[in-house]
Amino acid sequence: EGRDGGQPEFLQAVREVFESIEPVVEAHPEYEKNGVLERLIEPERVIKFRVAWVDDEGRVQVNRGYRVQFNSAIGPYKGGLRFHPTVTESVVKFLGFEQVLKNSLTGLPMGGAKGGSDFDPRGRSDGEVMRFCQAFMTELQRHIGQFTDVPAGDINVGGREIGYLFGQYKRIRNEYSGALSGKGLDYGGSLARTEATGYGLCYYTQAALNTLRNDSFEGKTVVVSGSGNVAIFATEKAQELGAKVVTASDSDGYVYDPEGIRLDVVKDIKLGHRGRIREYADRVPGAEYHEGSKGVWTVPCDIALPCATQNEVDGESAEALVGNGCKVVCEGANMPSTPEAIATYQRAGVLYGPAKAANAGGVAVSGLEMSQNSYRLSWTFEEVDGKLKNIMESIVANSLAAAKEYGHEGDLMLGANAAGFAKVANAMVAQGVC
Ligand code: NDP
Repeated sequence: EGRDGGQPEFLQAVREVFESIEPVVEAHPEYEKNGVLERLIEPERVIKFRVAWVDDEGRVQVNRGYRVQFNSAIGPYKGGLRFHPTVTESVVKFLGFEQVLKNSLTGLPMGGAKGGSDFDPRGRSDGEVMRFCQAFMTELQRHIGQFTDVPAGDINVGGREIGYLFGQYKRIRNEYSGALSGKGLDYGGSLARTEATGYGLCYYTQAALNTLRNDSFEGKTVVVSGSGNVAIFATEKAQELGAKVVTASDSDGYVYDPEGIRLDVVKDIKLGHRGRIREYADRVPGAEYHEGSKGVWTVPCDIALPCATQNEVDGESAEALVGNGCKVVCEGANMPSTPEAIATYQRAGVLYGPAKAANAGGVAVSGLEMSQNSYRLSWTFEEVDGKLKNIMESIVANSLAAAKEYGHEGDLMLGANAAGFAKVANAMVAQGVC
């Protein structure tokens, strides 16, 4: 706490993990002897850099860039880049820490990292976004590479940004390699990567529902927050699995559509012209728009899938969800629930799927993109989607097995932390103190 005192998000993520891995550490005295916990929370490398670029008016703009290379015990560093004004060292460190355990849970050989910038792309032209991405990569390129560190997308870093970043990497390094994932299909991307986090979230939820409650999405009312990459494809898969999704939101507010969200309209607004979700209510009769994104948690539902950002569900929102009959919360966003919210889910017996397990589908398919780049071939959509489904089902099974082993049967949070941690810890012990 002394060393990272000004980093509340990072400390929140570490506390949650440390509480649940206590039984694992007790069962493995070699972890303490080898200083595994102390080493686990100290990133191997924190890179902070200036990003200077020229806007459309000819003015020089300066942003701050980050890459936190957290842990490389089980593979090259891997994790997304986020461009958002709320990006700080604490946010990047919490995301990087979570990424270490998440990547381990996928079963693929990937270490953990995260990066980004406080750059706000809202209102910026395409040319400005390109120049920012080029300036960002001009520094980042010296720290990454297919065998070192493979960044991907996150909030406000989608196909367009990855394209500009990849172009600059290739130009400076004079090398065509899979140094980024989430690439376009014409230049080394994987089919099903765009859909992977949202689809994976639903595969995870469906498997957990099936195993723990003998139930499914069929006929359920679902609240989804956000309207970005994760939210859109979570909505698509939940609808395919027979659920009715009744909300979508952005940082301004949310829409409630009692007939079920029309995803063609959301896609047209968000992917078509980067518009605001309030437009939905102007275009779909019977839908309501409400200012304030937090209100989305007051909409009655059976299943909630938070897919926007960290700490978007606080204690009060969790009480509202549970009070209105919500029985399942699975996290598409990273750390969307505050500790108070998690305590409420646990008190109410909610089936709670934590982010590092439930949203691991994105990085899992990024890992599959790396494999395809190495082989220099492309798998079909069905092949990738099938592997994604298997990975998500294994994450549920492995989490439940670990929970049982450590005496907390049915606890998906403890199980995910324990299973993800054990593999990394064993690798760290095997590789000696470094
Ligand atoms: P996008 O940029 O595509 O979408 C983000 C969505 O969340 C937008 O609707 C955005 O609204 C909303 N949002 C962002 N900040 C806030 C806020 N402070 N309050 C309310 N709404 C907000 O990002 P993604 O869909 O990729 O990411 C969403 C979450 O999922 C993040 O937590 C990310 O870390 C996590 N995630 C993403 C993965 C991926 O593969 N993309 C993989 C694993 C996790 P607005 O447009 O108004 O900003």
